[in-house]
Amino acid sequence: MQVIRAGRLIDGTGAGVQSNRDLYVEDGRIVQIVARGDVPSDADLVDLSGQCVVPGLIDCHVHLVFSCSQRPLADLTVEDDQQLLLRAVAAGRQALGAGITTVRDLGGRGGVTFKLRDAIDAGWIAGPRILAAGSPITITGGHCHFLGVEADDEAAVRLAARHQLKSGANCLKIMATGGRMTPGSNTTLAQYSVAEIHAAVEEARRAHVTVAAHGLGTAGIRNATEAGVNTIEHCNWLGLDGDVQFDESVAVQMARQNVAVVATLVPLQRSAPVLRAKVLAAMRRMAQLGVAFAAGTDAGVSLTPFDSLHAELAILVAELGFTPVQAIASATGVAARSLGIDNTVGTLQVGRSADLLAVDGDPSQRIEALRNVRRVLKAGKTVVDNGVVL
Ligand SMILES: [Zn+2]
Repeated sequence: MQVIRAGRLIDGTGAGVQSNRDLYVEDGRIVQIVARGDVPSDADLVDLSGQCVVPGLIDCHVHLVFSCSQRPLADLTVEDDQQLLLRAVAAGRQALGAGITTVRDLGGRGGVTFKLRDAIDAGWIAGPRILAAGSPITITGGHCHFLGVEADDEAAVRLAARHQLKSGANCLKIMATGGRMTPGSNTTLAQYSVAEIHAAVEEARRAHVTVAAHGLGTAGIRNATEAGVNTIEHCNWLGLDGDVQFDESVAVQMARQNVAVVATLVPLQRSAPVLRAKVLAAMRRMAQLGVAFAAGTDAGVSLTPFDSLHAELAILVAELGFTPVQAIASATGVAARSLGIDNTVGTLQVGRSADLLAVDGDPSQRIEALRNVRRVLKAGKTVVDNGVVL
């Protein structure tokens, strides 16, 4: 029996700060949360009474094999899978050091992220829990074709989805539009029809996993929503002329179907200021319409390291009007729900895994306090102590 003593506690549900709580943990799971009191003499006390405790953070969109350099694609092209695996190990450690105890990897190559995920689960090396899509499903020559699976019609998409699931994917990624990183792909036009995306959705449901759709253009966002994906990545609402063309009816449908947006606002900072302002305006409207925001950074792409989630949450507060507690929920409770893993992680509630971080200061007042990571626990085990990954 372990007792984790929190001076302050933010539970990730969106509720405000609680003071002086004791979390009782057995076999890595929270079994009871009570007001601070006497601790049984045989219990192992983890004293975090000087800190604020929040649920382990979830980054819903990373690429552990990408280099975060100015030219991640150029790096990827010249590196073999062994090098990518080593990069991914380092990336996972960086995320864990920032209190990110779960990541969803939305595109690797050669099954590298499956191997890393399994090695972390087996306790060989330190790292976050990983939901891994493996190779994203894309059209021939389409966005991120260099990562693996090309599929050009409904049957091919179905086959590609089955292959990824057979190889070990515990989520799927489909490219509903082209992307900025892939020369020759079209960011504004849809890559797939509703029926084609739906084939991936059906296969995911059969395997009890979720589907992420990359969507920059409005046409692809519309198709992905209609097809019933779980999250839409980036969601920049680009019209055919490349300017922002927000479709409120699609956003309403997203809210109704619980399709979450993973906004990846950190790399968006490097877009042209006029475009960025229009995308942010569309996102503010989406939030008003009740679309869930699940926090994700696209870490690994150009100049976006694996500890960028703090910056993502700061942008949610500064630009989209989230309160700090709402921003924390988007990287914890809301994120877990959007990824279908809220039975195990995302909130500090009875029955959930004791994944948490302790920070100095009060992030409910200043979201930047999330950067002051003192300690991180994963399933009740200390994995980061005084900022050092163990
Ligand atoms: Zn991405």
